[in-house]
Amino acid sequence: MGSTDVFDRPGGVNRSQLADALAAELARYHESTEKSKAIYDSSNHLFGHVPMTWMNKWAGGYPVVATKARGNRVETVDGKTLIDFALGDTGAMAGHSPSATAEALQHRYVELGGATMMLPIEDAAWVGQELARRFGLPLWSFTLSGTDSNRWVLRVARLVTGNQKILAFAYGYHGTVDETFVVMGVDGEAAARPGNVGPPVPLSDTTRVAEFNDLALVERALKHGDIAAIITEPALTNIGIVLPEPGFLEGLRVLADKYGALLVIDETHTISAGAGGMTRERDLKPDIVTIGKSLGGGIPAGAYGLSQEIADQVALHREADLVDVGGVGGTLSGNALSVAAMRATLEKVLTEEAFKHMIECAVIFEAGVRDVIEKHKVDWSVNRLGARVEYRFCNPAPRNGSESAAASDADLDDYLHLFMINRGIMMTPFHNMALMCPETSLSDVDLHTKLFDEAVNRIV
Ligand code: PMP
Repeated sequence: MGSTDVFDRPGGVNRSQLADALAAELARYHESTEKSKAIYDSSNHLFGHVPMTWMNKWAGGYPVVATKARGNRVETVDGKTLIDFALGDTGAMAGHSPSATAEALQHRYVELGGATMMLPIEDAAWVGQELARRFGLPLWSFTLSGTDSNRWVLRVARLVTGNQKILAFAYGYHGTVDETFVVMGVDGEAAARPGNVGPPVPLSDTTRVAEFNDLALVERALKHGDIAAIITEPALTNIGIVLPEPGFLEGLRVLADKYGALLVIDETHTISAGAGGMTRERDLKPDIVTIGKSLGGGIPAGAYGLSQEIADQVALHREADLVDVGGVGGTLSGNALSVAAMRATLEKVLTEEAFKHMIECAVIFEAGVRDVIEKHKVDWSVNRLGARVEYRFCNPAPRNGSESAAASDADLDDYLHLFMINRGIMMTPFHNMALMCPETSLSDVDLHTKLFDEAVNRIV
């Protein structure tokens, strides 16, 4: 999930051709998804007619209803089979129902029995060790989502630093974490992102803001002396992909140390960079890593990792209740089913070998998109982060979240998503992102390139 803030801009596109093409794609979508529409219409006891309100953001007015999914294919009630480049916005980065994870789940839940026992299973130690190997942080705890991980480590950061505020980047996204829904306000103050639902307190009470790739702004915020943690993805991925400029991530480490703040790296999406995320690829030295979504092969699972130093500091706070109702918890976190799923997924599916293939596919995907952009001379850009690629309606590629937000274009988004889904390709909703999984094939990538060419050709 990501941007809801939308501005229109031309970007080298013929707007009247775009309006016509969008209308044609909408009509085609409606004609070919009648069963999905009927289910949507009759779901009268679902808030917004969908299981989760954000599903209403799929292009076309309602989402297709899924029946089956395996690998990178999803089938729908309308009889379509879609090549899935959305992959559950990273939740299904291992592919849908990979057989190793499916077998582990069957074994755990059916043969052995027991999903939620409030007890560890032996696999947990293996998963902790594997996460330590991949991300370089020695001590891990499990959650059920990226959101959980981020919420809890922000508490840890306040505990050990004694500081109250969080420094987050404009248009960063870390799940439903109150402190992080931030954009630049007037005078550089933290302001709530437009649309924030029922914020508990004004955002400037909890948060300071900076632009990604701007160390001067980061230092300006840190100088107040009240920051517990800088929280960031090592590349923004929820407002398009915004890559870090040389020296930026290293600079965050230096500044965090200088001002006594912790550095929290959220790898929930950026694990696309490799098996140990950008933390390993770029040899980042975070105090804390958070992650969710992909670890359990589609089964809810998340985790956070702490350095030994932070863990030692937590231990000094004997007043902090880590074992009951101190605010870091979750009854089903670390449940046996999630843990078994994590073990199988990390051991047998999202392996170093699998990443090689996924990244190869993404390199070719990116090259195809770049060729089309150049061929049709649209003012767009394409960025890649390991196995993840995104095109954005601005050129050059955005340097920070605010620039990227300004390049949003609702009509273009809708048109491209509908064009693709009408021809059998599902892109990540909310923006134009494609993720590769172990089953993604080069012919899937080539089909996207061909369709992208046709789609752009109609609107220039
Ligand atoms: N961190 C990042 C970087 C994310 O992109 C997201 C979700 N898009 C989250 C955390 C939260 O994950 P979840 O919604 O599964 O809690």
